[in-house]
Amino acid sequence: MQVTLELIDSVRNLSFDEALRYLVGTLYPEVLDPLRVPGVVLCVQPHPDDCEFGAGGTIALLGKSGRDIYYVTVTDGRMGTSNPNLYPEELARIRRREQEEAARLLGVRNIIWFDFMDTNVPVNDLRNRLITEIRRLKPSIVIAPDPYTRYEAHSDHINTGKAVLEALILSGLPHVNDVDIRNGLEPHSARLVMLYYTSSPNKYIDIGEVLDLKIDALARHESQFPDRVLLEFLVKVNAMLYGKLAGVSYAEGFKVIPVDLLHVAPFVERI
Ligand SMILES: [Zn+2]
Repeated sequence: MQVTLELIDSVRNLSFDEALRYLVGTLYPEVLDPLRVPGVVLCVQPHPDDCEFGAGGTIALLGKSGRDIYYVTVTDGRMGTSNPNLYPEELARIRRREQEEAARLLGVRNIIWFDFMDTNVPVNDLRNRLITEIRRLKPSIVIAPDPYTRYEAHSDHINTGKAVLEALILSGLPHVNDVDIRNGLEPHSARLVMLYYTSSPNKYIDIGEVLDLKIDALARHESQFPDRVLLEFLVKVNAMLYGKLAGVSYAEGFKVIPVDLLHVAPFVERI
């Protein structure tokens, strides 16, 4: 990023919103068109199905354009049932197979399973594992759940989002998790994070052309969505509501933030 002090003078007479929009658009134009940022895409999910539910249309579009996409699945989702007679180990096996099939439909190259305990995701341990994967895969874009969607009650979602954001600001620092460096990895910083399940979207992706593919991928998670009509309703209602904000029929909404602005940038909430 090339900065000049003239940039400050050029926004001096603008309103706050105009100045912020101009500065971000000038310094980080990729925020306006994140899918055109070249390179590897890493999508992180607390449980099998979250990537598809939160960002499956966008992942399908990236997959169709031949991008290298990887998933990190933080837990095996073994608690995701209301059936007391289904053993957690058995559900974990089922969900792993469902996830592999769903991701294959969207063009995902590989799934990395962290196997943290479902409903007990520890932020610091997860952060360090993520730092290693960011250094290994060298993504330009990381997709993750927004930990600051205020009424999200599931701590796995909140902790996963927080761990991703911290990993993104630390993965470029060689003395952090330095076992990676001794193992031959290099520090790496991604460019952008795209947060799904967000109540503060600043970017919408039109998913009209891949909506059916998103529903088909989610239908592979049969243990979670046994009722196809209910599944289709849930996907369409969320996509329609984001679509209304975007002015299209069906969309996914994201909070897109340059990694540079994930620390000591108090105005990032307003971009
Ligand atoms: Zn989840």
